[in-house]
Amino acid sequence: MTTPLFDRIALLGIGLIGSSLALAIKRSNLASHIAIYTRRQETLDRAAKLELGDSYHKEVADAVAGAELVIFCAPLGANTALAQASAPALAEGAIVSDVGSCKRSVIDDVTPHLPDHALLVPAHPVAGTEHSGPDAGFAELFDGRWCILTPEVGTNQTAVDRVSNLWQQVGSNVEIMDADHHDQVLAITSHLPHLIAYTIVETATDLETDLQKEVVKFSAGGFRDFTRIAASDPTMWRDVFLNNQDAVLEVLGRFTEDLTALQRAIRRGDAEKLHDSFTRTQALHRSVIAAKQQA
Ligand code: NAP
Repeated sequence: MTTPLFDRIALLGIGLIGSSLALAIKRSNLASHIAIYTRRQETLDRAAKLELGDSYHKEVADAVAGAELVIFCAPLGANTALAQASAPALAEGAIVSDVGSCKRSVIDDVTPHLPDHALLVPAHPVAGTEHSGPDAGFAELFDGRWCILTPEVGTNQTAVDRVSNLWQQVGSNVEIMDADHHDQVLAITSHLPHLIAYTIVETATDLETDLQKEVVKFSAGGFRDFTRIAASDPTMWRDVFLNNQDAVLEVLGRFTEDLTALQRAIRRGDAEKLHDSFTRTQALHRSVIAAKQQA
């Protein structure tokens, strides 16, 4: 058996991502001890029942104490409070990381509260499902998926390498990126698609009852995929849009222009414009399949 990469890892939050990480860390024996904190007793009991960790804590400071690596795995809106509660208990030179879907806000929310000796290495595993909570986790979630690290310039390289190594050992390919660039890329690849899915499903939900039955009956015609995406955790996604406002509003503006152009083409019966648009998009789908990033 290999030597663990870390003595003690503290996971703050044990939903889909936290529990998957716990299982993946265990799978490859990457930590001697996994300490778990979560907000509600019920979730903590469930994590213990599932044997996700080695110790279970109702207080952030108790989980963090003595940890070489602390990973925030709660919704983005919880980060400031988690940083404040962690700070006094952080071991000398502890690495603080996270799994949040937006990166600039994590740096802004967490950095002011950390002691000088702590090292922040933000991370975003680009992997997930529409399920949440500790029962949703599985060790293979990160296999073959990207994990994007967004350390600020000048961050201790050993800390970056150690976090990078952890994500590689749980199965991910690691890319280092500037936090603002990350937020722009994810706005188009993840945040906008979720917003569109939420909107389509909301529109359908607002239709009167009879039509709704037909919507469910014939949902295989594309709608079902949107309902799956729109079933994602509302708190998590509320926080994503609150924490990536600028980039989302920018791509939403471009999207609205493109949608309006298609709307005009439909009204005018512009077959060429419609066919051209739908042909151009096929090429991107082939690239996604080739990159093995389809769900
Ligand atoms: P989740 O399954 O809903 O789990 C959230 C966890 O955080 C639970 O343990 C919950 O604890 C805890 N929590 C919720 N609100 C909290 C608060 N205000 N203070 C402290 N703890 C709180 O969420 P998830 O899908 O794992 O997402 C966690 C993070 O991963 C988010 O930042 C998200 O952006 C990121 N992420 C998600 C995905 C995805 O597809 N889901 C993919 C990549 C990254 P209790 O149950 O005890 O309340």
